[in-house]
Amino acid sequence: MATGNINVSVENIFPLIKKFLYSDHEIFLRELISNATDATLKLKHLTSIGEAKVEYGNPVIEVKIDKEKKQLIISDQGIGMTKEEVEKYINQVAFSGAEEFLEKYKDSAKDSGIIGHFGLGFYSAFMVANKVEIITKSYKDAPAAHWINEGTTEFTLEEADKKEHGTDIILHINEDDKEFLEEGRIRELLTKYNKFMPIPIKFGTREEEIPLPEDAPEDAKPETKVVDDIINNPNPAWTKQPTELEDKDYKDFYRELYPMQFEEPLFHIHLNVDYPFNLTGILYFPKMSRDMNIQKDKIQLYQNQVFVTDNVEGIVPEFLTMLRGVIDSPDIPLNVSRSYLQADGAVKKISSYITRKVADKLKALFNNNREDFEKKWNDIKIVIEYGMLSEDKFFDKAKDFALYPTVDDKYFTFAEFIEKVKENQTDKDGNKVLLYASNKDDQHSYIEAAKEKGYEVLLLDSPIVSHLMQKLEMSEEKVTFARVDADHVDNLIKKDDEKISKLSDEEKEKLKGDFEKVIPKEKYTVQLEAMDSNAAPLLITQPEFMRRMKEMQQTGGGGMFGMGNMPEM
Ligand code: ADP
Ligand code: MG
Repeated sequence: MATGNINVSVENIFPLIKKFLYSDHEIFLRELISNATDATLKLKHLTSIGEAKVEYGNPVIEVKIDKEKKQLIISDQGIGMTKEEVEKYINQVAFSGAEEFLEKYKDSAKDSGIIGHFGLGFYSAFMVANKVEIITKSYKDAPAAHWINEGTTEFTLEEADKKEHGTDIILHINEDDKEFLEEGRIRELLTKYNKFMPIPIKFGTREEEIPLPEDAPEDAKPETKVVDDIINNPNPAWTKQPTELEDKDYKDFYRELYPMQFEEPLFHIHLNVDYPFNLTGILYFPKMSRDMNIQKDKIQLYQNQVFVTDNVEGIVPEFLTMLRGVIDSPDIPLNVSRSYLQADGAVKKISSYITRKVADKLKALFNNNREDFEKKWNDIKIVIEYGMLSEDKFFDKAKDFALYPTVDDKYFTFAEFIEKVKENQTDKDGNKVLLYASNKDDQHSYIEAAKEKGYEVLLLDSPIVSHLMQKLEMSEEKVTFARVDADHVDNLIKKDDEKISKLSDEEKEKLKGDFEKVIPKEKYTVQLEAMDSNAAPLLITQPEFMRRMKEMQQTGGGGMFGMGNMPEM
């Protein structure tokens, strides 16, 4: 038996670990299961290159609770450790065996999916346990080892009689952390962090019906058998190639990710890149609705199939945080602060890659099936309009596929609409005037009046549209938006001025005067139209710029993009 001191430069690292290393106690289980997974993946790799002479088989990781002994046990059938290796990998805090392994097997193991790399994960066990034991046997021909530590820098290390290769980590759970001896709590953690990890994880057993034979009588009852309860899906959709997957597989995976979400996604984007950084994932465009649960059903970030967070701020551009799905990258630094993350070069590249992929996908949908794209427009426009406002690169691409519906449900791109109206809707200064309504009912008579003159009227009713119009106007020479009730309408060069009003000039002047008495002149303009149809003979208009100023004050400036005060949809 050996006793000794754990090799650290800091005198006592334990208080530090307990307090500062991880703010969240619950992640200890994720760390220990990650280590068990690494140990198994390492064995898989070593057997595949013929360096380990043992059978790989079908290893599982098992999590067990022993309530009486107040123990939580995590067992694996991986490479295990010799006594010397325990000295090296466990006693040297902040020395990562995972990093060393990847360094040693550089080329062959680069896609092995090994998770660890800080050499601190193991010690997170002491956040919830006052005593930790390791019983481990290496796949090499060496005796098993038993390490015990009671939360100080002292440890004991002796031989043990474990026969099979692999490792048991035994946590003696603190009185304060009793929750981690509850089945429900552990199941919750396993579902949150380990649902898609690559090695099967067993947590207890469950009953399963044995399918009846074909010729069984109708009233036969199926028998049940007890099987391991495997809590994870080791091969989630995003780890596969897009060519292996059908539309149905993507929908099934969506359901797996968000079991409480009954609405089908509109479409998906499969992310898959390995240079200059590694990233896989699937993003879904959900149907945007007033009652959608933006707070709960969020994009999830994984590292090598281990759940990290569903706060993807800084990694995914803000306008895309309304999407759903999964992003998995070994290149995203995990346990570091958000401000560091935002400054990180790799993270920036990831963000612009995602933006580009989303824009390309939308463009392809638009090109391949415009009719379908038009049908989806109302459900996706909020994301696209936000994106156009907040990311210039996205704006440049989206200009080609962003749609502008008319009050008669025709859809135009910006360029198409300009082309359409340039003949008939140009004012005296040569500006093409893009007329729009923001509310079909309120502005009904203005819309009718404009249509009467042969003008096309857009229906732009989303909450951020006045900001977007400003940006579009700046992107194009001599183009200006004007709401149908703006005074611009009267300044358009009319092709047909022949229509004669039923009123005489005198009557008109009098009517105009009467209205101007009750309407503030500095805010509105009263016009009398020379029309004899069902459209309004009299229009009261407001200068476009005044109304827009007011609107923009209401929706606010830059702060509007914060999800907290997103305008209602
Ligand atoms: P990291 O995983 O970042 O390398 P950890 O502190 O989590 O750091 O673990 C330190 C080292 O201890 C691992 O790299 C590995 O060599 C060894 N180790 C931990 N758990 C196991 C296990 N279940 N089986 C085999 N080796 C393990
Ligand atoms: Mg680890």
